[in-house]
Parts: sequence; C-alpha cells; structure tokens
Amino acid sequence: MGVVVQKFGGSSVKNAERLMEAARKAIRAKSAGNQVIVVVSAQGSTTDDLIAKAAEITATPSAREMDMLLATGEQISIALTALAIQELGEKAVSFTGSQIGIVTDSTHRKARIKSIDTRRLSEALTSGHIVVVAGFQGIDEQGDISTLGRGGSDTTAVAVAAAMKQAGYEVECEIYTDVDGVYTTDPRIVPDARKADAVSYDEMLEMASMGAGVMHSRSIEFAKKYDVPLMVRNAQSDAVGTWIVPEANWMGEIPVCGAALAADEARITLEGVPDQPGVSHAVFEALAGANIAVDMIGQSIGAGGRATIGFTVINAELDRTKKVLAPIVAGLGATLNVTERVSKVSVVGAGMRTVAGVAERMFDALAAEQVNLKMITTGDIKISVLIEEDTTPAPMDATEPAATEKIKKAHEESKKAVRGRKALRAVHKAFGLDQPRKGAGLPTDAVTATGTLVRKPPAVSADATAREAAVARLDGMEDVLVSGVHLNTDMARITVFDLPDVPGTVAKVFNAVAAGSILVDTIVQNITGPGRAELSFTVPKADATKAERQVSELLREIDARCRVEGDASIAVLYVLGVGMRTHTGVARTMFGALAAKGINIEMINTSEVCVGVVIDAARGPEAVAALKAAFKV
Ligand code: ASP
Ligand code: MG
Repeated sequence: MGVVVQKFGGSSVKNAERLMEAARKAIRAKSAGNQVIVVVSAQGSTTDDLIAKAAEITATPSAREMDMLLATGEQISIALTALAIQELGEKAVSFTGSQIGIVTDSTHRKARIKSIDTRRLSEALTSGHIVVVAGFQGIDEQGDISTLGRGGSDTTAVAVAAAMKQAGYEVECEIYTDVDGVYTTDPRIVPDARKADAVSYDEMLEMASMGAGVMHSRSIEFAKKYDVPLMVRNAQSDAVGTWIVPEANWMGEIPVCGAALAADEARITLEGVPDQPGVSHAVFEALAGANIAVDMIGQSIGAGGRATIGFTVINAELDRTKKVLAPIVAGLGATLNVTERVSKVSVVGAGMRTVAGVAERMFDALAAEQVNLKMITTGDIKISVLIEEDTTPAPMDATEPAATEKIKKAHEESKKAVRGRKALRAVHKAFGLDQPRKGAGLPTDAVTATGTLVRKPPAVSADATAREAAVARLDGMEDVLVSGVHLNTDMARITVFDLPDVPGTVAKVFNAVAAGSILVDTIVQNITGPGRAELSFTVPKADATKAERQVSELLREIDARCRVEGDASIAVLYVLGVGMRTHTGVARTMFGALAAKGINIEMINTSEVCVGVVIDAARGPEAVAALKAAFKV
C-alpha cells in the first residue's frame, strides 16, 4: 500500500469550510486505497498575527520564545483538521512535530531537519488512522521547540514523505495551494501561459529561484535528494496539478519549459578590479558575511590586468551592499557603479543541455523587440538576461505640468518593469510556451493523458545511485549534498571584447555561431565600459576555430573596435549537488579553496544544482583535488 502525504497551506485551512474540504480530500485518498498523512500550516494569517502580538511586547524577541509562540499556530490546525476528518466518519489522529520526533538543529526560527522517527507514524497508519502532522515545527536535541523558517510546512511535508520512503514505503506527496499548478510563466503577465503537466526537480528549483513562488526551494531540494514525486495542485478543485519528478527522457527534448521575470533587482558593477586570484572571493565573502544574497554573477575576462565583476542583489539590499563593499572597492582601486532598476528575464529547461540554438533563439526574440541586454549569465539549464528599465527620474518641482506628467509616468512605468514584461512575453512566445507540447497538454511516457503519474518503479539512474550513496554519509536530512566535482577539458572559451552596447549585437554573434550548429554552453556578458560590453562563451574545443572565424567575420561588419579571442587552454570545473543556493556556504567554500591555491577564475556560472567556473586548464587537476578535499567527496 502506498503512502500519500497531502500538504495544505494556510489559505487551504483558513476556515471551517476549507478545513472540511481538506478533510474530504484526505478521506478520498484513503478510500482509493492509500495510507494518508496530512501536513497542515497555521490557518490563514495566524503566523503573521502571532508575530505582531510579540511585536506589541518587544522589538527584540528571543528566538526560542518566538518558536514556542509560532508553533501554536500549526497546533490549532492539526487538532481542527483531525476533528474535521472524524466528523466525516474517518479515524484521525494529530501529532505535533515533537510527538513524531522531527529533530532539528537548534537554529531557532530557521532550523534544519536532522531526522524524523517514523515509528509513531507507521503505527497510527497501520491502525487505520489518517495521520495529521503539524508543519513548520520540530524539536531540537535539548527538547526545545523549533520552527523551520517562513513557509516551512512544504519542507515538513516532503521531509515526512522522504522519511517514510527511507522506511520502505512507496510514497507520493501532494502540495495543495491556491493555484492549479506550475505555469510556463506568470499568467498575470502572460495570459496565454500554460499549466505544465510535469517538470523535473532541477527545472522546478530553477523556476522557484526565478520568482515562481509556488513552492519553497528547500522542499524541492528534499524531494530531489530522496526521489519523492510531488504534485502541486489546487486545494479548491479536483483538477490534476503539476508533477515534479525525476528527469524523464522526454524532458531532454524540450529546450525550454518555463520563463520568468524578476523585477526587484539592482545591478552593481565593479569596474577595474585587478584580474588576480582571490578578488571575486573577497567580494562575495564580504557579501555572504553580511548575509546579502547575490543573484546573477558575471565576471569579465578583462584587459590590461583589470576586469569587471557584475552582479545583482534585490533592490532592498542595495544600500547595505554599497556600504559593505565600499572599503573593498577602495582597496582594490576599482569603481562601483549601480543601475537601480533592472529586470531579469530567465528561461529554464532540461533540454538546453543538448539542444543547440537555445541562446540564439532567446537573443533573437529580444533583439526583435529592441531590448538591450545589460548582462547575461547561464546556469546548467538556465539562461538569464538583465534589462535596464527606463528610470527617467520624477522631477522635484512641477513647473511645466504637461512634461512633468510625462516624466512622472515614465518613472511609474519603470517601477512596473515595462521592458521586462515585454521581454518576457517575447521570449515566452519564441519558445512556443503558449502552445500545447509534451509535458504541457500532450501526453508523455511519464504522465498519462489524464495527468496521473504512471506508477512504475523509476529506473535507478547512475545519478540517483551516486546520490543515495552520498545521502547515506550525511548526518542531517537537510545537510547540503555535494555529490561530485567534475572537470571538463573539452571546451574552449571565445571572448568578444568591446562589443557595442546596443540592442541586437549579442543576437548577431550567436546567429553567427549557430550557423555552424555549434552547441554553446556557459555564457557571460557584462558591460565593461561606456557603451561597450564583453561577451564570453564556451564551445566544444573541436568547434572553437570555426566559431572564432565566424564571429570574427561578423565583427568586421559591426565596427572596427571590437575583436574576438579564442582560448583552448581552459577547463570548466563543476561542483554538483543539492542545496547549492539555500546553503550559501557552497560558493564561498569553492571560491575560497581556489583562492587559497592561487587559481584564477575566468568565468562563473551558478544554478541551484551546480556551480561551474572556467579556469586555466593547466591548473585543472590541482583545482579538482582542492575542491574534493574542501567538500570531502
Ligand atoms: N505557518 C508558517 C508560515 O506562515 C509555515 C507555513 O505556512 O508553511 O510561515
Ligand atoms: Mg503560512
């Protein structure tokens, strides 16, 4: 018999009516022959209300007491849910986190799960109960109540499912929320966005980090680590939602499965930093130390011993970022520039690894809309571009009403990410995301026409086997999992210097490269000086000369200043794992270990499941050894 874990969020248990609906769903799953565990969040805005109550008393509440307080929200929900199920005639029993041994570390308010004791859960299931578990909470080794961080009930649900799986049950986890599933993009911006039938864990992780806030990243990491199939679906309907599952073969044929816009970022460029080992480490170490999350990172190759480092942070962190970096920038003899209103548009898809021409298609669509790209970065299965919004400042005094109105409007528009939205629509269309396709409207081998997962034992991939072995070595369920360090020496780097910073140039470069059907991998573009950009990308070594020749022919038509340079003596070094971003330490450890060896980083690409850097091939073996030691793999 299979175990179905159903998670209901705050809005899905906010009142008696919703609670009864949740209870009905649990009973239906049981009647279908499953054993059922229900995980619930606090009702509606309860957690916020509790935080507000504490704020009436103190501005500096102790974390331990806050956890004691916040955990009560979920305790109310579990009792009410169990009562609702009983009222409908089924057996139900509720448990707090501590009652079923959800043991966490002692980091109150953002604790990480170490282990779950499944004995009590199993007993209650065996005796025919629907088991209701409090989300978001656990108990530390001292016996104190802890909470997992806002939105933590998703994590509880997937962790409980993972623990049951470890105990030998066949499991599935359903996340009930107020949307129908995962969409190709935000339907509020692009009305013809389609619901996906299935996406892979990696795709979902990238989409979650791009701003598709359907699920907590931590919970998806958990699901991936333990191979728990998830479905996101609507709590108020019976419609089939979106499966989040291990990567299926057909997913590899689809280059892009989703696109997203993040509009609240700011771009920082550090120009004229010395092109030396350890410099990027110093910069990102300082930011990590101040707990500032860095999003896109693009480092230029530079010329004359000086390089440019560009990155984005959320707008709200801009002032803090400037303050933290001021002394470092001064020490390096560099300058710090800021672009306040930028929009990031990203595309994600597992098929990008093998389908050529994805970057070209994206840049073409953006060029057709006259969108200028301020920065480009790539991850394993993601390409992101940064677009500057129109930031014409609103005037201080209103001398000429008509003009003022116009400027004011432009200012308001910039806030609404007008260019970003336009770019998102163009990209969504360019990849045919508005059309039915495999995994979004057409049946596949993993999902039947009715949208239910074909239950067959998943083929254990080499990846999954390696992961299982690595998982077994961890102390805590939520420990960061670095599963491997890899060196790829088959790639070459092509860099275009002094490319004019106008719409369409990047598209032209990739059209030239794509004309030779060359698969482009890592891409980094950065603005390096007034009106000029630097663009680097990697291609297979065998295609490097061809790519360089094609680009150089094109550059002759563009202008006399830009030039191209190929370098075949590079290596790409990857750290692969799960939890690369929710555990900020990974990039830090990686850059730190390389800096300690005096190894220079030429390009960086980050994603949820992989951090890749381009280094000098001659240092490759030494770099691999350093990272294996640093990550103990
Ligand atoms: N009740 C908690 C919160 O609001 C946990 C959750 O909803 O997942 O953050
Ligand atoms: Mg909540």
